[in-house]
Amino acid sequence: MKNLLKIVSIVALGALLSFSLSKEKKVVVIDAGHGRSDLGVNRETFIEKDVVLKVAKKIKELNKNSNLEIILTREDDSYPSLIDRTNKINQLKPDLTISLHVNSSYKADSDKKGAELYYKRDDTSKYFADKLASKFNNCPVMTKSLHMLRVSENPSVLLELGFANNKDERDYLGSEKGQTETAEKILSVINEH
Ligand SMILES: [Zn+2]
Repeated sequence: MKNLLKIVSIVALGALLSFSLSKEKKVVVIDAGHGRSDLGVNRETFIEKDVVLKVAKKIKELNKNSNLEIILTREDDSYPSLIDRTNKINQLKPDLTISLHVNSSYKADSDKKGAELYYKRDDTSKYFADKLASKFNNCPVMTKSLHMLRVSENPSVLLELGFANNKDERDYLGSEKGQTETAEKILSVINEH
C-alpha cells in the first residue's frame, strides 16, 4: 500500500510538473505568405514567396530558447490555403502568429519604402505589433480586414517586411544578411515577452 501511494504521488508530481512546464512554453506561429504558383510580389530575381520562407526558416533555426516553440505554416514551397493556415493556427492556439509578406506599391519605380505592420483588433496583437514596429524604421502600425487577422482566434500580426519595388529594400531582403538580420529582429521581440 505504501509503495502504491509512493507510485501514485510520483505520477501525480510528474503530471503536475509536465503541466506547468508545458504551460510555460510559448508557441509562436510564423506564417510565410504565398507559396507554389502564388509567387506574391516578384521583381527581377526577387520572389516574395521565397524570401518570406527563408526569413521564416531562419527565425526557427536561430531560436535557441527551449521554452519557445516556433511552428511554420509551411516549411517548403507548398501552398496551404488561407483557410488551411487559419485552421491550423486555431488548433494550435499559439501565443502569437506573425504572417510575413513583402509589399509593393503601384508605381514600379516608387520610392515608397519601409516595413508596415497590421494587427488583429485586440490588445495583445496591438502590443506585439508596436514592439515589432520599434525594430524597424518609421514602421506604421495599422489594422486591416485581412483573412489571417480576422479568422485567427489568437493574437496575430502581419508584417510587410519592405517594398519590393524599392531597389535598396529588394536587394537587402533578397540577401542572406538582410534575411538573417530581419529574422533576428523578429526573434528578439518574441523572446523578450
Ligand atoms: Zn504577400
